[in-house]
Amino acid sequence: MIRDPSRLEALLVSTRRFVCETAIPNEALVEERDEIPEPIVDEMRRLGLFGWSIPEEYGGAGLTTEELCLANMEISRCSVAFRARCGTNTGIGAEAIIQDGTAEQKRTYLPRLASGEMTGCLAVTEPGAGSDLLGGLATTAVEDDGGFVLNGTKRYITNAPIADVFTVIARTDPGKHGASSTTTFLIERGTPGLSTGKPHKKMGQEGSPVSEVYFENCRVPNSSVLGGVPGRGFASVMKSLNKQRINLASLCTGPAIRLLDESLAHARTRRQSGKAIGEFQLVQAMLADCKVEIEAARALILDTARKRDRGEDVTLEVSMCKYYASEMCGRVADRAVQILGGAGYCEDIGGAVPRLYRDVRLFRLYEGTSQIHQLNIAKLLLKGVS
Ligand SMILES: Cc1cc2nc3c(=O)[nH]c(=O)nc-3n(C[C@H](O)[C@H](O)[C@H](O)COP(=O)(O)OP(=O)(O)OC[C@H]3O[C@@H](n4cnc5c(N)ncnc54)[C@H](O)[C@@H]3O)c2cc1C
Repeated sequence: MIRDPSRLEALLVSTRRFVCETAIPNEALVEERDEIPEPIVDEMRRLGLFGWSIPEEYGGAGLTTEELCLANMEISRCSVAFRARCGTNTGIGAEAIIQDGTAEQKRTYLPRLASGEMTGCLAVTEPGAGSDLLGGLATTAVEDDGGFVLNGTKRYITNAPIADVFTVIARTDPGKHGASSTTTFLIERGTPGLSTGKPHKKMGQEGSPVSEVYFENCRVPNSSVLGGVPGRGFASVMKSLNKQRINLASLCTGPAIRLLDESLAHARTRRQSGKAIGEFQLVQAMLADCKVEIEAARALILDTARKRDRGEDVTLEVSMCKYYASEMCGRVADRAVQILGGAGYCEDIGGAVPRLYRDVRLFRLYEGTSQIHQLNIAKLLLKGVS
């Protein structure tokens, strides 16, 4: 649903300007320094990029799902690090609070997440709990003296090294394995017993810090329980992830559009055998396949976004979006390297293409691997959902 086309257009234009005039010219610097310079983060704050999905009453833009997807397709046309910097605030680091937080929790955190004053993150994955989050969850939160004491380790948490507030799922009933034995907590940095590890050395997405989070006898008050009611942790996390899946699908589409643009520019200018390589039909076939798949992803995502905005159950569709868009982006990145030839493999010559090739590989792994989405889709189909 698009509420006000001219307001949305203004947002898309300002985002495009940020991508073209600030983000793309600084991609190499961000990669080299492995961080986004603070003046650029400040510009992102001023543009409101941290609060896109946060309701207007808390200082965000309150974008509908369709608006958010269209905006995501713009912000993601540069190195993934830029949108990852604000992406936990306008995504998994705020969504559980929006969906299930108490009035007090919303008032405390959402305005500061929307402005970018605070950085949020969602700490779910653990060394033994990846795809099987519920079965593998080993972080415990034991009730004690009017609060809870947490122990455990979270792994691969985006923005953990710079986060101010952590949304954390833990098992509050260690004897049980079901969803009702889990609780989600909001824990601020500085709480004794919470610490973060050194950033993981990743194969791409330089500038987007990801690390482990440790809880060692970390004592939190009852007011840290998301929504104030224990036993609803898994449900809250799944609500966040369901929204995030369509969010991420649209974030897979921007890089694919950029990769096709880079491929087209190269195909027009690179000459072999006396011709631009774009005149060779086998190169044309790769360009055509990229375009068709990008448009197919875009259509599926926007159709699903509109259904979600109408209040329809889109559990099946969001899995299809995330699965298709992330795999599509991987195929487009691979073709882009092929079209650039040796330049696609050499970072100092190929520019954005080799960097994005490495950046987008992650899309098929997080927010549910491709295999987990295939299983979800098939399970729902076999149940009769269509
Ligand atoms: C850079 C980065 C950032 C991340 N950010 C976050 C974050 O902010 N917060 C967070 O909580 N997590 C985050 N993650 C974690 C991410 O969501 C997990 O890595 C992902 O869920 C996969 O879990 P795993 O790595 O343990 O792989 P595993 O679950 O061990 O999977 C390994 C392989 O086995 C396959 N597999 C597993 N189970 C099945 C099955 N039942 N059927 C078929 N195949 C199966 C998988 O598809 C995969 O191919 C991040 C990860 C990375 C690398």
